[in-house]
Amino acid sequence: MNQIADVTALSVPRSCVDELHAHLRKVGSEGHEGLGLWVGRQTEHHFQVHRTLIPAQRHIRTSDGVCVMTGPEELHRINVWLYREQLALVAQIHSHPGRAYHSSTDDAYAIATTVGCLSLVVPDFARAPFELRNLASYRLDGAGIWQPLTVGEVSRMISIKD
Ligand SMILES: [Zn+2]
Repeated sequence: MNQIADVTALSVPRSCVDELHAHLRKVGSEGHEGLGLWVGRQTEHHFQVHRTLIPAQRHIRTSDGVCVMTGPEELHRINVWLYREQLALVAQIHSHPGRAYHSSTDDAYAIATTVGCLSLVVPDFARAPFELRNLASYRLDGAGIWQPLTVGEVSRMISIKD
């Protein structure tokens, strides 16, 4: 069976990390949260990330902060494209102005909805270099809850490859 919930190891090319981080940092410098997706292919317990997708996103500034949203048409477009390319979404990554955590908005508007997907939150508008230990990391469980992963768990699971 090839189900995201079975993934225990994720390989991410450095170029995919860099593309994501550059986007988060650019929109962060404009005062906005940014959002990216990692997609690729699974072989048994291993998931190889092939691409970073930067979905069309709206950056919303509200009285109590900032927020990033992707509309239903764009999500549909991405899902059709993933199906055609035989790629799967494994992780959504977004930035926060300050502390990294999964907000109730993040729970409610998650793009990744498959059990076993990851949600990574990058603090401080991605001003610091990308480091797994700086992220807040979550994995969607079978009950639809984003369960926090420890730094140890995420470091054992994700390998960034040059
Ligand atoms: Zn958030």
